[in-house]
Amino acid sequence: MQALALDIGATKLGVALVGADGEPTGWRTTPTRRDEGPDAVLERLFALADGLLADRGPADAAGISCGGPLDPRRGLLLGPLHLPGWDRVPIVRLVEERFGLRAHLLNDASAGAWGEFRHGAARDAASSLYLTVSSGMGGGAVVDGRLLVGASGNGGEPGHVLVRAGGRRCLCGRRGCAEAYVAGTQMAARVREERALRPTALPEDATAEQVFALSGSDELAHEIWTDGVEALASAVVTLVNVLEPEVVVIGGGLTNAGEALLGPVRTAVAEQAMAPIAAVARVVPAALGAPVCAVGIGAWALEQEADA
Ligand SMILES: [Zn+2]
Repeated sequence: MQALALDIGATKLGVALVGADGEPTGWRTTPTRRDEGPDAVLERLFALADGLLADRGPADAAGISCGGPLDPRRGLLLGPLHLPGWDRVPIVRLVEERFGLRAHLLNDASAGAWGEFRHGAARDAASSLYLTVSSGMGGGAVVDGRLLVGASGNGGEPGHVLVRAGGRRCLCGRRGCAEAYVAGTQMAARVREERALRPTALPEDATAEQVFALSGSDELAHEIWTDGVEALASAVVTLVNVLEPEVVVIGGGLTNAGEALLGPVRTAVAEQAMAPIAAVARVVPAALGAPVCAVGIGAWALEQEADA
């Protein structure tokens, strides 16, 4: 048994075949080029999948992971934030008709959480929290072996946990969300806002990577980086207190900073979470890399078929 996994990201489309071992066989990607619109983008995604199935098929089920908002039960994309104009795209029906397979849809952050839980850094745990920090901050949770899908399938927005009341304005409209400090795009925005106000070696178009690289020598870089790490740590402490996971898996581009990111999160959990909870929660880096959502949605699709 293997599932065709389709991952629809803001910048990349990815496909793989995922079997019981969780290996993303034949993982391949192509640029999304979302400006081409849903018909053209999906045709390129499906053509990529056709090639994979011809090489390594057949598949027994299909899974689709995409950013929200979406409706997993009715199989619709509801104008995902990263795909403007993709309103009410019946993605499950389109995939089922194209490939002759039953298809299952999940929010990509939930798919990532399921991938790390089933086949990655949380595979020995019964409860886990998954956070991914790159241009934005997302994640999902598994509690007592069950993925938290929520009432409409659009929960799992840990980036909007409040960490600093009255703080920076977030893209969601509120002030002081974790994402307003730790997301790569928000670190870059802060550089643009603040570099005129004081001396700094950061360029106008600095990235989060450059902020981290200069955080040991440049005052502004140090402040932006430290605020980001503290915001992540504070959000993790709040979520750990609520969910009591055995494992907190942190993935995404910012984890390239390694212990400079994970160390302070570990310390915050140990010192600030409720004692019995802090004692069981291990903070670890993600294991699955770029195909994490494909692995998760593939595993999810196989399990839905087995349960049907
Ligand atoms: Zn927010």
